[in-house]
Amino acid sequence: MKTLPIYTYGFEVLRKKTRKITKVDDKLIDLVRNMFNTMHKANGIGLAAPQIGLDISLTVIDISHIEGQEKNDPLVLLNPKITDSYGETTIEEGCLSIPHIRESVTRPEEVYIEYQDLDLNKKYIELSSYISRVAQHEIDHLNGKLFIDHLSKETKSRIKQDLSHIKKGLVMADYLLADIAKKDKAIDKRKIYSGS
Ligand code: ZN
Repeated sequence: MKTLPIYTYGFEVLRKKTRKITKVDDKLIDLVRNMFNTMHKANGIGLAAPQIGLDISLTVIDISHIEGQEKNDPLVLLNPKITDSYGETTIEEGCLSIPHIRESVTRPEEVYIEYQDLDLNKKYIELSSYISRVAQHEIDHLNGKLFIDHLSKETKSRIKQDLSHIKKGLVMADYLLADIAKKDKAIDKRKIYSGS
């Protein structure tokens, strides 16, 4: 099993709307295993494909190691969509792609999700409380959205500096991060070759 580098804030793939998955082959099954492995090693509770650099509609979730959440089986969601939501709660969120920043986010308390499983069968689930929150955060990722997009202007300006550091690659984490400096070098090269 592989541990995949996590793409951080600043990588364009985190801002892209993902493509629908229409075929499940051995490669995808392997990818799902590697995503669970990567997430567990990083002590994460959810991981979406853009966070490992892929613009496909896939996310894995596992909160079963959290105290009091043992009954929640791990989830693999292909092409998930929130079809309905109820209530409102405010919970603190963080993100493996935005290391060290945690802020309170208000979202619906309960969601209905339509998705496909690894056999591409259509499924429906109703989630509430903590697992609902994690699923909403992950489904946001599949639409190019990050939890910081839900914050107030004031909070956004308070964390602006930290975000700009992450964008420049000036961040450390106790898990493997994709090298954002390489991305910048690639852009620099393009500039040189285009003659500007
Ligand atoms: Zn996240």
